[in-house]
Amino acid sequence: MSSLSLKGIRKFYGSLEVIKGVDLDIKSKEFVVFVGPSGCGKSTLLRMIAGLEHITSGELDIGGTRMNDVEPSKRGIAMVFQTYALYPHMTVRENMGFALRFAGVAKDQIARQVGDAARILALEPLLDRFPKELSGGQRQRVAIGRAIVRNPQVFLFDEPLSNLDAELRVHMRIEIARLHKELQTTIIYVTHDQVEAMTLADTIVVLRDGIIEQVGRPLDLYDDPANQFVAGFIGSPR
Ligand code: ADP
Ligand code: MG
Repeated sequence: MSSLSLKGIRKFYGSLEVIKGVDLDIKSKEFVVFVGPSGCGKSTLLRMIAGLEHITSGELDIGGTRMNDVEPSKRGIAMVFQTYALYPHMTVRENMGFALRFAGVAKDQIARQVGDAARILALEPLLDRFPKELSGGQRQRVAIGRAIVRNPQVFLFDEPLSNLDAELRVHMRIEIARLHKELQTTIIYVTHDQVEAMTLADTIVVLRDGIIEQVGRPLDLYDDPANQFVAGFIGSPR
């Protein structure tokens, strides 16, 4: 079953067309990575899926339901950004529970969900710390924890590791792969890092200037890129 489908998706900012007809089917539990140069429309696509940006035309379905006009909090989606502003005056526990508290979820249920997410992300020893008492990688784990507690069907990640140093990026990449296994959710992940794309993806989507150039499994794209552009991004050197 397709958990998420984009049909003929277009986006205009004024008269500027930035997404020029995107068709894509994403299966339930699939790990899909969007790659492409800066400005090609990766964030715009994610933001439209999340409901943070209006879809100019085309159809977005999630779990078989048309989502174009559904408000963000009702889409079963959680998004993790590159810049993950935590609330500085709240502890890790409060940061992670905030969205649930805001939504009126009962206290004991919040505690349970925050506890589960903390266990999955090895954040239990840090629950009573404040953000300034955490390392960059720990903060990013809290940002992911905030998304997990909402128990989404679909996770969207927009270059979540690009502010971390190289060593931490490798570590977090392994954590995200483990997370995908454990949570069994659909993930759409944006990166411009070829290694992240190759190691994390079930499916890579190569974007260029608002259109999809190629969709395929990492090794298929690597071995058989459709054109020079794809080859330049992820293809084997030839
Ligand atoms: P990427 O994430 O791949 O770097 P974006 O989706 O952020 O690309 O941007 C795609 C294009 O849309 C770029 O040309 C960008 O300048 C333009 N764009 C993004 N957001 C806006 C906006 N709010 N208003 C006008 N143009 C925008
Ligand atoms: Mg972007």
